Amino acid sequence: NVRVRFAPSPTGPLHIGGLRTALFNYLFAKKHGGDFVLRIEDTDQNRFVEGAEEYIIEALNWCGIPFDEGPGKEGGFGPYRQSERKGLYKAYALELIEKGKAYYAFDSAETLDHHRRDHEAKGKTFIYNWHNRLKLTNSLSLSEEEVKAKLEAGEDYVIRFKSPEHEALYLNDIIRGEIKIDTSILDDKVLFKSDGMPTYHLANIVDDHLMQISHVIRGEEWLPSLALHTLLYDAFGWKTPKFAHLPLIMKPVGKGKLSKRDGEKGGFPVFPLTWNQSEGYREAGFFPEAVVNFLALLGWNPGTEQEIFSLEELVSAFTLERVNKSGARFDPEKNNWYNQQWLQRKSDKELSEWFAAELAKKQISSEQDYVQKVVSLIKERASFVKDFWELGDYYFEAPSSYNEKAVKKQWKEGTPEIMEQLASVLNNVQKFESSTIEEEVKGWISDNELSFGKVMPPLRLIIVGDMKGPHLFDIMELIGKEESINRIKTAIA
Ligand code: GLU
Repeated sequence: NVRVRFAPSPTGPLHIGGLRTALFNYLFAKKHGGDFVLRIEDTDQNRFVEGAEEYIIEALNWCGIPFDEGPGKEGGFGPYRQSERKGLYKAYALELIEKGKAYYAFDSAETLDHHRRDHEAKGKTFIYNWHNRLKLTNSLSLSEEEVKAKLEAGEDYVIRFKSPEHEALYLNDIIRGEIKIDTSILDDKVLFKSDGMPTYHLANIVDDHLMQISHVIRGEEWLPSLALHTLLYDAFGWKTPKFAHLPLIMKPVGKGKLSKRDGEKGGFPVFPLTWNQSEGYREAGFFPEAVVNFLALLGWNPGTEQEIFSLEELVSAFTLERVNKSGARFDPEKNNWYNQQWLQRKSDKELSEWFAAELAKKQISSEQDYVQKVVSLIKERASFVKDFWELGDYYFEAPSSYNEKAVKKQWKEGTPEIMEQLASVLNNVQKFESSTIEEEVKGWISDNELSFGKVMPPLRLIIVGDMKGPHLFDIMELIGKEESINRIKTAIA
């Protein structure tokens, strides 16, 4: 039975890397008919951020990848917030002490600091493990009575894992294959503190075990913890889940990992807190489908040329075996392209409703039918609904200025006279429809031995204000006879 979990710490808004981890977990679960669990890892109270949990849940829902079990959705393995499971971890830490796999340590922060500096001065790194254990204050170096006395006196302690010395450890990762590690380099990680709180490592594996997680899919930054986690499963005598560490997401240019500080270059969250400083993907106008689509291809590939995937298609195409080992470069331009592609897949009706809302903000009210026709003409070039205004403002108001360069090139001697004649030609068009207008204008051009080049570019400038836009007669049909003639008159006045 496949059970996976997304285990964020509620320390801030969800960024693109975290969301991708959630997505890959979701895809894997759905592909195998399994469960996608959300577990909130909030044991570190110092880093807790108010509202972060709600934010994470909202982000998952917005992307259309809701969890099956988690806070507020009991599934028999709850509670799903580690702070609410606080009471259960100590027994596990004690169990390891009992088994000789962990020990109490009483060293003060100052002592450890002193050792660190002392080692540094000699050009060495201080590692709390078999190298130094016996020189420090812990239950391996003290007598049983001494340990007991310290505990009874209420001295601060931590429980450390006793990492084995000189063992070859073979780690398995679905994406990376087998990784060999010499346990001698591992330090004795703290598992539990006397304030009653487990560290990430202990809580994480205890919960994965109790929640019967079958596959741990997480970011590459956790790969260095894999050895410890594997050893912990062994120490408890538990079955180890399968692991898959997802490749890092790299900056759009240059070296290094994408970070929050990359701001509009991509390190922004799902919603508020960036992309144009104060927004997230949602506010920037990304469709959830596009976000899901580009995230899926950050580090995974289908092995075909296909780029556009719906969530359902991803579920059926996804395999962990096709996740790349190497870092995935984040490409904001490509993300815009995904949005452009998904925008084309929306109905004109839906798009026009969103566009009408944008127009209303500009105090422009227009018939839904009209807005929809405009949308069908301009959407091809739009990546976002917010692009519609720039692409099609001339459908709603006459140009307030004309592109200067184009004016210089297209507005010649005699143009005003030609345009004036054209206005009366247009006035005589009975059925003001694109094809009829075109026929009449073409007839008039050849009858008067004019050329297309003398008529069409200045006319476009007059109607649109620029040389852009779709077929000019389509535009004129939409804005209507009166408005078309008025724009000509304004221009030549
Ligand atoms: N709480 C960890 C995080 O914030 C979870 C790591 C894991 O998935 O094991 O990423």
